[in-house]
Amino acid sequence: MIRRVLLCVVALSSPALAVDGFVRQTAPVTPHVHLVYRPVATDAPYEGNVEVIEQSDGLVVVDAGGSPPAGEYVVAEIRKLSAKPVKVLIYTHYHGDHNLGAGAFLKAWPRIEIVSTAATRADMTGKPFDYIKTYAKSYAGEIDYARKQVADPAVTGEVRAGWQQYVDVGDSIVAGYTDMKAYPATKTFTDRFSVPDSMMPVEVAFLGNANTDGDAVVWVPSEKVLITGDVVVQPIPYAAASFPESWIGVLRKLKAFDFAVLIPGHGEVQHGRAYLDKLIAALSEVRAKVAPLAAKGVPLEEVYKQIDLEDIKQTFAGNDRWKRQLLNSFFLHAIVANAYAEATGKPIVQGTG
Ligand SMILES: [Zn+2]
Repeated sequence: MIRRVLLCVVALSSPALAVDGFVRQTAPVTPHVHLVYRPVATDAPYEGNVEVIEQSDGLVVVDAGGSPPAGEYVVAEIRKLSAKPVKVLIYTHYHGDHNLGAGAFLKAWPRIEIVSTAATRADMTGKPFDYIKTYAKSYAGEIDYARKQVADPAVTGEVRAGWQQYVDVGDSIVAGYTDMKAYPATKTFTDRFSVPDSMMPVEVAFLGNANTDGDAVVWVPSEKVLITGDVVVQPIPYAAASFPESWIGVLRKLKAFDFAVLIPGHGEVQHGRAYLDKLIAALSEVRAKVAPLAAKGVPLEEVYKQIDLEDIKQTFAGNDRWKRQLLNSFFLHAIVANAYAEATGKPIVQGTG
C-alpha cells in the first residue's frame, strides 16, 4: 500500500505530466466573430483573449497571444476557422500577453498591417517593454517559489492547488518567454481607426486612459460585439499602471455602447452590464477611500494598512483564498498605489505596477 502511494507521488512529479500552458481553444461568439482563448483565465500563463472577425475579403484579428508558442497556437486556430488571410492585426494595448505572439502572424501573413494607438507603439518601442528581456528569468523565479509552496505542508486547499497549477505549466512558460521580440504597430492612430467592409466593418477607438495610456477598444456594429482589451478583465481585474479616474470614465463610455456581447481582455464573454458596474463600483470605492488619507499626508504603506477593501474582495474573489491572493497581486496593490498617485498629483508611469 505504502509502495503504491510512493509510486503515485513519483508519477505526479514526473516531467511527462508537464502541461503546455499556451495551448488555445476557439469558440464562436457570433456568426462572424470567434474567440481564441485559454480555458481558465485565472490559470497561468495569464494570456489575453484573441478575437477573429471575418470580413468579406479577409480577417481582422484583435491581439496575438503572449509568447511565440502562443502565437503559433493562435495562428493554427485561425487557419482552422477560415481560409481567408489575416489582413489587419489590432493590439488593444502594449502588455506583452496580448502581442508577443505576433511573430507567428507575420510569418503566416507577411502583408499583414499591425495597428495600435500611437501611445501603445511608443510603449512597445520604449522603456515599458524592457521587461520582455528578463521575463523568462523572472518567471523562472516565480516557478521556483511555486515549487517551494507546493512542498510546504502548511500550504493547503485552493492555495496549494493554485501553486500546483503554476508548477504544472512552469517549464512551458519559461521556455515560451525566452528570446522574445517586440512587433510594434506598422500603423498608428490617436482617436479612431476603421477597417471598412460591406459585410462586417470594424471600428477601433481610444476612449481615454484606462488600464494603460493607450487602450484601444474594438466595435463590430453589425453583430454588436464590443472587444475591450484589459479595460475589462474577468473574473479578477488587472490594475498595473492604470488611471483610476479616467478608467471609470472609459467604463461608462463602454456602458453606452449598444452591445449584445462584450469580450474582455481575459475571461468570459459578458452579455450584460453587471460586470462593468462592478468594476466602476470597485474603482470608485478605492478612489474614495484613498483620497482623504492621501490628502492628510498618510504615506502609501500606511494607506494599505488603514483601508478596508473587504467588500471588493468579496465581489471578485468571495472566500477563495487563492483568488484573493490573485486579486491582491493583480489589482488591489496597484490600484491603491495608482489612486494614491492621482490623489497626490504624481505621474502614473507605464511599465510599472
Ligand atoms: Zn492582459
